Amino acid sequence: MASSDTPAPTLLWFRNDLRLDDNPALRTALETPAPVVALFVLEEDEQGAAGPRPLGGAARWWLHRSLTALAADLERHAIPLVLRRGRAEDIVPEVVGETGAARVVWNRRYDGGGIAVDSALKSRLKADGIAVDSFNGSLLLEPWEVKTGAGEPYKVFTPFWRAARAAGDPAPPRDAPSANPERLRVSAPPGEALDDWDLLPTKPDWAGGLRDTWTPGEAGARDRLEAFLDDRLARYAGERDLPGAEATSMLSPHLRFGEISPRRIWAAAAHRAADDDRISDRQLSKFQAELGWREFSNHLLFHFPDLGRENFQPKFDAFPWRDDPDGLRAWQKGQTGYPFVDAGLRELWATGYMHNRVRMVVASFLVKHLMIDWRAGEAWFWDTLVDADPANNTASWQWVAGSGADAAPYFRIFNPTTQGEKFDPEGDYTRRWVPELADLPKKYLYKPQEAPREILERAGIRLGETYPRPIVDHSRARQRALDAFQTTKTAA
Ligand code: FAD
Repeated sequence: MASSDTPAPTLLWFRNDLRLDDNPALRTALETPAPVVALFVLEEDEQGAAGPRPLGGAARWWLHRSLTALAADLERHAIPLVLRRGRAEDIVPEVVGETGAARVVWNRRYDGGGIAVDSALKSRLKADGIAVDSFNGSLLLEPWEVKTGAGEPYKVFTPFWRAARAAGDPAPPRDAPSANPERLRVSAPPGEALDDWDLLPTKPDWAGGLRDTWTPGEAGARDRLEAFLDDRLARYAGERDLPGAEATSMLSPHLRFGEISPRRIWAAAAHRAADDDRISDRQLSKFQAELGWREFSNHLLFHFPDLGRENFQPKFDAFPWRDDPDGLRAWQKGQTGYPFVDAGLRELWATGYMHNRVRMVVASFLVKHLMIDWRAGEAWFWDTLVDADPANNTASWQWVAGSGADAAPYFRIFNPTTQGEKFDPEGDYTRRWVPELADLPKKYLYKPQEAPREILERAGIRLGETYPRPIVDHSRARQRALDAFQTTKTAA
């Protein structure tokens, strides 16, 4: 609570922007001498009413670590971080009352549930005489800034990105304010202890692979960016599709939680490319276009808030999805008998991440080979990915399913065997994640069921025991999917 001779505090509400660098809400809060109180609300609505979607297990693990890092960073600015759990619509006004804050600032979010909460709060706080300011802290362009000639949202990536690029380079990032432990501070209102939120798994503790792979928090994000610029960006365009090449940035969970801004990444990549002859324009623009896909996904989610629940193309509502709990379980566990698919799903389970090429192949396998509704796959990814993102996950699943905007056509069905041969030709990635096949020669790695018995024996493999036989036959599954696809044509 502020005493009468200190200015009324500003409440800085953190959400998907857990950083100090290039953070417009933080910067604005620090522009005046008013003390700042930071708040994070774990928005878990017991009633299941509208609001942001509750985080999945892997993202909860990430959040714990990220909030720990953020609290330490804020401490250097004399800003306490208050943690509360519940409905933000109730908690934000409560904390305003408890602190006597005269102003609330935050960076915007773009999912329908989040927007509904934020708009209601803004009106309510303003009606109570509290100043409220919101900013763009997580996108290169606001979703409403890019429009077709007819003033409509884009539904196709290429013209969207062309229009976005025509708007010029994104605004440059702004550095984190210098630390100022002497800043006027107020004692924080009571908050909850992070440990009491039980975000970390205990029984069982499945997070060992996550701990080995990631350093959540702003410093971890910076290190990932530097490593990418030093070694990977120069190889990006040629190798980004090869999961064994480790050529992508692995910045996705850091972007998801806003530990680094896309403006910072954009500027750093452009700057490095200008200084480093190894990084051609092609490498740079390919990487920029992937950041563009993130913008496009947010553009779609903002304009079509049901993207995570409803087929973007309603003709898919008639699609005869199969109810196949055994198939779904085999897929989730990486036990489909297709080694490239199994490698991806096991990578996901172990690390909370999966390479983009493999995401496409495993998603296609679920939706087309098993004909299981894309929403079941989306939900599994939501629970297991550290980068599970309301825009990218739903837009990508609909893209693969063929039901989305600008989607891959349903009738184009990935062959999970040849995808492995093409994108992991030496098999390094697949052998790493499916170690029971490690000694199988390259020729049979993606089709162990075709290997002669003595080769399987030499590699220590007993099909159906140490590694499953394929749960569906590729050609038959492909034909079944194509036949089912006819239903969407008649529904069109
Ligand atoms: P890089 O290749 O280094 O790309 C840089 C950044 O661009 C990424 O961090 C990401 O923010 C963005 N990006 C890259 N590719 C895409 C894409 N296709 N669509 C949207 N943004 C992209 N990405 C998520 O961040 N969260 C998800 O929940 C998610 N779910 C997906 C589900 C499926 C079925 C598929 C096919 C893709 C999904 N993606 C998702 C997109 C993509 O696979 C990941 O963003 C990428 O693999 C992250 O690795 P990276 O950071 O090394 O990417």
